[in-house]
Amino acid sequence: MQLRYNFRLYPTPGQQEQLAKTFGCARVVFNDALRARREAFERGERVSDGELSRQLTEAKKTPERAWLGDVSSVALQQALADLNTAYRNFFQSVTGRRRGAEVRPPRFRSRKDSRQTIRFTKNSRFAVTSGGKLRLPKIGELTVRWSRELPSEPSSVTVIKDAAGRYFASFVLETTDAPLPPSDSEVGIDLGLSTFAVLSDGRTIVSPRFLRQAERRLRKLQKALSRKKKGSANRLKARIRVAKAHARVADTRRDWINKHSTKIIRENQVVFVEDLCIRGLARTRLAKSVHDAGWGMFTRKLEEKASRYGRAFGRIDRFFPSTRLCSACGTQSGRKPLYVREWTCTCGVTHDRDANAAKNILAAGLADKSNACGGDVSPGFARQSPVKQEPAEGTTRCW
Ligand SMILES: [Zn+2]
Repeated sequence: MQLRYNFRLYPTPGQQEQLAKTFGCARVVFNDALRARREAFERGERVSDGELSRQLTEAKKTPERAWLGDVSSVALQQALADLNTAYRNFFQSVTGRRRGAEVRPPRFRSRKDSRQTIRFTKNSRFAVTSGGKLRLPKIGELTVRWSRELPSEPSSVTVIKDAAGRYFASFVLETTDAPLPPSDSEVGIDLGLSTFAVLSDGRTIVSPRFLRQAERRLRKLQKALSRKKKGSANRLKARIRVAKAHARVADTRRDWINKHSTKIIRENQVVFVEDLCIRGLARTRLAKSVHDAGWGMFTRKLEEKASRYGRAFGRIDRFFPSTRLCSACGTQSGRKPLYVREWTCTCGVTHDRDANAAKNILAAGLADKSNACGGDVSPGFARQSPVKQEPAEGTTRCW
């Protein structure tokens, strides 16, 4: 399985200049190729990848594009590969062969884009030096803040400049993780509103105060930004402040989510979560809390770590009535408005709303699994479940 390892980079002013040049060249190559593909499309033709690559080589010989020769040719080839991937994702999305959100066709890159990236593959001969620097072709040796060790040799590195003006190196490598020793525990997870998540064993995960504070601060800065006059120097300053606060919230949230997802995967052999219709929810007044809570990232991390460490992970259908069922006797007790935090079933058992839902998610997951695999525990079974129907426009989950 492929993993990404991200580290902060500290290029010198000279290296920053050279990086800016490479970002710029990669952008021009990407845009030239996109234009060529669009023009060919209008003529009813198709340009092959080989043809685009040949056009790039030719362009370097012309006076208008000769400066492309000043930067790493691998970074430019990778810009073509990016375009290729963007088109493939788009075509797979429109033909329904790709799950998830709808993918838009590739658009032109701009120097004003908040994120600039270039990628170097192995054949560009990038290297981590014995002194712990990252050596990039035609850029030099960059200082890296190594927060952990690379477990194996990376196959590529992407250099990113984000909206806050920070630089990162994102390495791709094959994991060599051994599966964790088996565990007897199984868990269902309900993604709550008053808490971040509730586990079927009754434990809750609450988002920490420092994260909520950082998020509040970000919202304040965003409001301040919206009040600034368009095109003014103050607006630019406010925009940078928002980008920095945003980066801080994202980092903090990622760390926190990593910590909790690792703990859950370590402790449990089998993990089920509700497959939330986050896009549907986003249309409601809950939008803010849904996005801030970072559930999407949380469930993706659980899935990724489950497959890394030999655990089973599954998503339960979003229309499963996890809140309505009594987890003790299985009675359907009707729809419950959001304010109902606790309820008592006719069988006499009193439930916490979210903990009951988490127990039902676990039970449904285990039932699904024995149907799908004849009772076998096999990681990755969730992928074999039939493709779920998209809900009608505006449909939201009943809590
Ligand atoms: Zn009951």
